[in-house]
Amino acid sequence: MSAYPKLLAPLRVRGQVLPNRIVMGSMHTGVETLPGGFARMAEFYAARARGGAALMVTGGFAPNAEGAFGPGGPLMVDQADAAPHLAITEAVHKAGGRILMQILHTGRYGKHEAIVAPSAIRAPINSFTPRAMSADDIRRTLAEYGRAAALAVSAGYDGVEIMGSEGYLINSFLVTRTNKRDDDWGGAYANRMRFAVEAVRAVRAQVPEDFIVMFRLSMIDLVDEGSTAAEIAELARALERAGTDILNSGIGWHEAKVPTIAAMVPPAAWSWATGRVKAAVAIPVMASNRIDSPETAEGILARGEADLVSMARPLLADPELAAKARRGERGRINLCIGCNQGCLDGIFSGGICSCLVNPKACRETELVARPAAQPKRIAVVGGGPAGLAFAVEAQARGHRVTLFEAQSELGGQFLLARAVPGKEGYLATPSYFAHELARLAVEVRLGRPATAQDLRGFDRVVLATGAVPRPLDLAGADHPMVASYEDILSGKRRAGQRVAIIGSGGIGFDVAAFLVAEGQVREDFYAAWGVDRAFAGAGGLLAKPAEPPTPRRRIVMLQRKTTRPGADLGKTTGWIHKAHLARMGVEMLAGASYRKIDDAGLHIVLKGEEKLIGADTVVVAAGQRPADELAMELGQMGIDASRIGGAREALGLDAMRAIFEGIELAQSV
Ligand code: NAP
Ligand code: SF4
Repeated sequence: MSAYPKLLAPLRVRGQVLPNRIVMGSMHTGVETLPGGFARMAEFYAARARGGAALMVTGGFAPNAEGAFGPGGPLMVDQADAAPHLAITEAVHKAGGRILMQILHTGRYGKHEAIVAPSAIRAPINSFTPRAMSADDIRRTLAEYGRAAALAVSAGYDGVEIMGSEGYLINSFLVTRTNKRDDDWGGAYANRMRFAVEAVRAVRAQVPEDFIVMFRLSMIDLVDEGSTAAEIAELARALERAGTDILNSGIGWHEAKVPTIAAMVPPAAWSWATGRVKAAVAIPVMASNRIDSPETAEGILARGEADLVSMARPLLADPELAAKARRGERGRINLCIGCNQGCLDGIFSGGICSCLVNPKACRETELVARPAAQPKRIAVVGGGPAGLAFAVEAQARGHRVTLFEAQSELGGQFLLARAVPGKEGYLATPSYFAHELARLAVEVRLGRPATAQDLRGFDRVVLATGAVPRPLDLAGADHPMVASYEDILSGKRRAGQRVAIIGSGGIGFDVAAFLVAEGQVREDFYAAWGVDRAFAGAGGLLAKPAEPPTPRRRIVMLQRKTTRPGADLGKTTGWIHKAHLARMGVEMLAGASYRKIDDAGLHIVLKGEEKLIGADTVVVAAGQRPADELAMELGQMGIDASRIGGAREALGLDAMRAIFEGIELAQSV
């Protein structure tokens, strides 16, 4: 019997039989507007179809220029827009899959001059102010939803998803926060929800009988003056009557100040909100956000909170998740760790959406593994992300790899992450790689640093020895109160009551998060972020978040730059880390000059004034340098070695680059 009986059960929708309940939710890939982008997207989606996903949804395509993300953003307004999509739909159908096109009008979130909304109210996360739509604009826009759907039919799609959540146009019609109209489209709820319902009708009128219409409904807005639970249920019923086949879940507006998908959000954190809507309708309802594993998904379905699960990032991380779950190969699933680094941060920084743990995502046509022409004996030193990725990829190509790791455990810096609250799930990555190493029979030698002698006789040597903490060049740097971030996160050293952290990069933030949590009872996620699970009021927010626990330590984070601490953290997660530490009373000082460390603590100059940061412990999180001693030794012995990850370049090192470099090198040897 399968471990996932509900997840792998078929479901009939509009006369079509979906083979299981796993849907790849919409993600903007950033690839669609690149030269050759549709061919890349075709292979991206085909890989997921081959991997067993029951249904997929594309990134958003706007029904008109006003609704685009920005100038040149993806549109679906005429046949010229529709034609290239045939590459996607044909590839997906050939692979046995089904795909819907998402129609997304960004409303007041678009980054351009022509944006429109029910009322002329600027979003707090946008510098552009929308123009209020006239009644004619509204009618025209609804017709353009219908036109986009008709074009999706001609492009071979199996259906469309109408994006009605996250604060985009449709969602902004629903609530008084953004809809101050006094005509047929504003005021009473029956008027505010008219646009959403008419959008479904406009689409239904343009598509064949067996064409799937999915609507992404905001199950909880997480903003003031958002929808009430009763309004959401009423809208769900109206959408069902208008011809919606599946209700997908949107969680929180983009301007909401509550994390909804980051690693620190508990898995399945929002399925209860979807469950409320499921109870109100008869059509299938889909849960979304932080559904990280087949077990989490099965639990949601078993509790009766949903009929389907949207797993967008997990299918970026592993296109074969569904097939592996069906084959009972759970250990082979490369799980999404919720970091957002490769996917959403990639997109929001103007790049493409890929994945930290699977850099092949959206690069399916570029990072292609071919069998090795001439199998070699390869030694790889270091069992962190770079070495693990290299070893698995190279062995899979037919090379014979021996992996040396000095620690008794694989994982490198991922092992430090497990100590950080909210990053416990990061261990899934080394455990996936360890599983693959065993499956592919890679020889692994743990628990002793490799010597140059050990590396003699291999055809090729790869150094993935990582990075070590950069030593501090400061008077008193050798004081017993000074500890490295590694000492603290690995548990080798315990910090005192008053801590100064030198360095406010990603690792400084991780250390602070670890130290504020140490010895504290873990706070309830919902109470800490002000979410009302009883959903008594509008938006699903409490009148006030819970009081933070009394800090057990006084923590001061410092940096020399005068920019805001945390400015370089991930675009989509940095605000969460900053808000969390601020709430926990961590002080952050920018523009500090370090003078010395002595028994009293850390002496600095700040804004021209001498200042003492009284401390029992000074933690150094001031970046890294490559751990490359072995490279020099090998060089002296005339052994050539390639370096990847931190061993090659420690500046700006992160696991995403490490894994990417491991795979890239493994494909070229
Ligand atoms: P980082 O982001 O480069 O930060 C290094 C910090 O040390 C900065 O605050 C820097 O600020 C300070 N610093 C640099 N040189 C110094 C020196 N000589 N003396 C004193 N201070 C110095 O590097 P990291 O924190 O070590 O993180 C490494 C990588 O891991 C980064 O790429 C990061 O993206 C990734 N990471 C990310 C996260 C996350 O996003 N949550 C978490 C962990 C790791 P000043 O130069 O202004 O003093
Ligand atoms: Fe998940 Fe991180 Fe990959 Fe995004 S980059 S899909 S969050 S593992």
